[in-house]
Amino acid sequence: MKIIKKNYTQNNNEIVLIENQHDGDKTILIIGTVHGDEPQGKFLIENYLDKINHPTHNNINDFSKDLKNLPPRPLGEREEFRNEERVSEIRVRGKNRLLFIPCLNPDGLELNTRTNANEVDINRNFPTKNWVREPFASEYFGGENSASEIETKFVMEVISEFSPDIILTLHAPYKVVNYDGPAEKIAKDISAIINYPVESDIGYSTPGSFGNYAGIERNIPTITLELDEEIDVKELITPVNEIFNYLAEV
Ligand SMILES: [Zn+2]
Repeated sequence: MKIIKKNYTQNNNEIVLIENQHDGDKTILIIGTVHGDEPQGKFLIENYLDKINHPTHNNINDFSKDLKNLPPRPLGEREEFRNEERVSEIRVRGKNRLLFIPCLNPDGLELNTRTNANEVDINRNFPTKNWVREPFASEYFGGENSASEIETKFVMEVISEFSPDIILTLHAPYKVVNYDGPAEKIAKDISAIINYPVESDIGYSTPGSFGNYAGIERNIPTITLELDEEIDVKELITPVNEIFNYLAEV
């Protein structure tokens, strides 16, 4: 378990890419907290990584206490996650290589905003063919230019450097398994685990979205899992861990 790529945001927060094992049949990329007001992804990924590295820890209750007191400032401060120290040799069970970006938008998490510190929706900033400039401060403002943001570029680099075979991004709150690209089977399997319906993005144009960029334009099976934000995040640990374990084997 180690950090294999790192960058700093506008507000000098770290974005990290964590690798669980060096080799694998397939490379799976899992991304949390693209939108800063959706802290569930970061929490669930870090919880999973913590469990892998420290299987005897029982710190779930501590974490979820923090998460309940939204805005999610306490989670943002949980840098005691000690990523740097996690150079453990313990491997996730499973044949695939898992890569995690626990929190793509740490500035937004800190500010409790959907967007990053530049008020850009990262999920509208990817350089897709149909990218359009939306008015500044509109709900889906995707930047002055596509790929203008550090967070966007970080993911683009990860895709070109590590060529993931499957990508999962964690969002909230719609309780659906969305997919782009050739991911119908994977979406159905994930749907069976978490009991949310499957929805395909086909026919629905989202300029600059990650699903469009990775799934439609690059043909990488891309799942957007929209989690329930009404329930205690603790209740999401079991199904989401099961989804990660499924991806480790698929
Ligand atoms: Zn989202």
